[in-house]
Amino acid sequence: MSEHERTFVMVKPDGVQRGLIGDIVSRFEDRGLKMVGGKFMQIDQELAEEHYGEHEDKPFFDGLVDFITSGPVFAMVWEGQDATRQVRNMMGETDPAESAPGTIRGDYGLDLGRNVIHGSDHEDEGANEREIELFFDEDELVDWDQIDSSWLYE
Ligand code: GDP
Ligand code: MG
Repeated sequence: MSEHERTFVMVKPDGVQRGLIGDIVSRFEDRGLKMVGGKFMQIDQELAEEHYGEHEDKPFFDGLVDFITSGPVFAMVWEGQDATRQVRNMMGETDPAESAPGTIRGDYGLDLGRNVIHGSDHEDEGANEREIELFFDEDELVDWDQIDSSWLYE
């Protein structure tokens, strides 16, 4: 399993408005994941519709696009062993009401339509790479060595 697996993560507008960026970043840092990209940005209609394209036929699609474009987000790329699946585990379930305490959605959310964070789906092959490419140019990602890596990986 590669220590260099990358996944796309985003603090959604509700998480930004509620001041949760720092806490969410800390959780991934504490876990041993490495941030290799990050930007505070406003998503436009076109990017929102592409990012959530798989849901375009769902009844919640228009509301979802309105929500994700309603204010700034903090988009990130995190790297580490099994990063995509581990981030999803840390996020909890899609519905915060079904998410265990200790997970991000389980600690900070109550409502399905306001679930604080996005992370690439580990069950959707290649979703991590596709989403990273959609949000980041190659030169916005930084290769760097973490000084504690020999204490994180055998
Ligand atoms: P995720 O991968 O866990 O974020 O979940 P999905 O890919 O299934 O859905 C994408 C996003 O759409 C979720 O994070 C929610 O913000 C939203 N969403 C999903 N299902 C529903 C729903 O039934 N109602 C509403 N209002 N929003 C939903
Ligand atoms: Mg999804």
